[in-house]
Amino acid sequence: MTSFVHDALPMRVVFGPGRLAELGDEVARLGLGRVLVLGTPPQEAALRAIADGLGGRAAGVFAGARQHVPVEVAGAAADRARELGADGCVVVGGGSSVGLGKAVALRHGLPVVAVPTTYAGSEMTPIWGLTEDGVKRTGRARAVLPRTVVYDPELTRTLPVGLSVTSGLNAVAHAVEALWAPDGTPITALMAEEGARALLSALPGVVAWPDDLDARSGALQGAWLCGAVLGATTMSLHHKLCHVLGGSFDLPHAETHAVVLPHVVAHNAPAAPAAVAALGRALGVAADPDTVTEALRTRARELGAPTSLAPLGMPRDGLPVVVEQVLAAPYANPAPVTRESLSALLEAAY
Ligand code: NAD
Repeated sequence: MTSFVHDALPMRVVFGPGRLAELGDEVARLGLGRVLVLGTPPQEAALRAIADGLGGRAAGVFAGARQHVPVEVAGAAADRARELGADGCVVVGGGSSVGLGKAVALRHGLPVVAVPTTYAGSEMTPIWGLTEDGVKRTGRARAVLPRTVVYDPELTRTLPVGLSVTSGLNAVAHAVEALWAPDGTPITALMAEEGARALLSALPGVVAWPDDLDARSGALQGAWLCGAVLGATTMSLHHKLCHVLGGSFDLPHAETHAVVLPHVVAHNAPAAPAAVAALGRALGVAADPDTVTEALRTRARELGAPTSLAPLGMPRDGLPVVVEQVLAAPYANPAPVTRESLSALLEAAY
């Protein structure tokens, strides 16, 4: 029998090619007049151009974002915001840039406007992360959820093909886990299925024609929906595994998700019929666990996604450590997870 609580997060999304031109209006709409523009070092030129476009509403640029938000980087960005008297942040980039904006929001309560340029989906979630001495802490706070998100697919045309694929599969993983989440609702199920469908159908076009705006728009629209369900539901085994692999062994985020996803789907599919039905429709294949798992695996391979943890830098003797860390923290999952099944899953992914 259906039974749920649907607690919608606020979201204002401005989507479409060229809509970056409306960023200034969106900043003004929030009453902000001195924003700090944040992003990663390779995107510094783009950050400066965006700050120029904001004119007097931009107080400065901080191009020091790094993966997993090291506390010293968060501290430096927060200090810069304070020195400049910033009243908000505009974050431009992927999960690393958005994560830095969230850290500043956590420290000073400044509102965040996000301009995502990957498919990671952090801009749609109230989840923050901070890494200190190699340990990543995460938490949820409404204050870090971006107030407005401007998705302009033109900005994703420069995202390298390899990262487009792995980042896209990272987003599909959010949708897959939302489909079997203990707190999923009819609305999150619709968004997750459509998000997975949009991304899985757009990515072949992105690989073939990275500059194609239709393919880029489809992928980014899918990423929005996948990010939204990441923010709205509780993630299971897949995200737990990737969190441990990334946090304890510093594996690259999107690539790790891409490798692990088909293995977790193979493990959970027999215990998650509704998710299998939705993924079958999203992939255009029959709704049975083996067919869906194989279709996902084939699609990832055809897209050129990495298929093994070893080349990502995972040491083989680290696998038992991951097993113990995952088993130590309880989390929801549709299929039971035992030491034996988890070891076999990791061995296969290795
Ligand atoms: P990223 O933000 O680290 O970006 C990867 C690289 O791509 C960077 O060097 C960046 O400069 C470059 N890049 C980004 N967009 C580009 C573009 N359009 N053109 C050219 N280069 C571009 O990678 P990511 O996978 O988006 O984010 C990973 C981080 O986000 C991890 O730390 C992860 O934990 C976090 N994350 C958090 C959440 C959340 O809800 N809190 C969700 C997803 C990811």
